[in-house]
Amino acid sequence: MNPIDRLAEAFERFPGIGPRQAGRFVQYLLRQNQSYRSTLADSIKKLSAETAQCNKCFRWFVKSDAKRDFCDICGDARRDASLLFVVEKDADIENVEKSGYRGLYFVLSGTIPLASEEPQKFIRLEKLLVRANHRNHRGDASMKLQEIILGLSATAEGDHTRLILQEKLKNAGPKISSLGRGLSTGSELEYADPDTIASAFDSRN
Ligand SMILES: [Zn+2]
Repeated sequence: MNPIDRLAEAFERFPGIGPRQAGRFVQYLLRQNQSYRSTLADSIKKLSAETAQCNKCFRWFVKSDAKRDFCDICGDARRDASLLFVVEKDADIENVEKSGYRGLYFVLSGTIPLASEEPQKFIRLEKLLVRANHRNHRGDASMKLQEIILGLSATAEGDHTRLILQEKLKNAGPKISSLGRGLSTGSELEYADPDTIASAFDSRN
């Protein structure tokens, strides 16, 4: 495959990008100067070298000089370890932070499609069950986990995922709650305003 087609194919894998847009991205890059392309290529390489996925919440973070397995939120002893906010994606965390929440997080990495028989294929279900289960944390600080808040989108897939998680987590130990009314139908946490998230958090049930 020639380099133009190969790059277009790589762009086509981006969320929401079709073949035509992917082709346009490549044409755009062809028109830019060499230094722009080098800087872009370098930034992509640095993603591998300078970022890591947190071993606890699974969000991506920039590695500091000290080699760490945990992100700054999971590594912060001042956070309220009794609360675990389950979100669909990394971008949701930034928004929930703005709402004033100071507990911990878990990134599901997606939602479960309505017709799916195998939820574990679409989200980090097993990892969440291990994290949630009190029996797995004898003597561990995670013993302090008291409540899991399901912060899923107010969409059909979000609702479907929430129902499956409520069922799977019901015997894990911590109380399971969901964001209350306030998030309008169809909205995603990533785009909700922080005040709306704060009031949905306060009315969780
Ligand atoms: Zn983390």
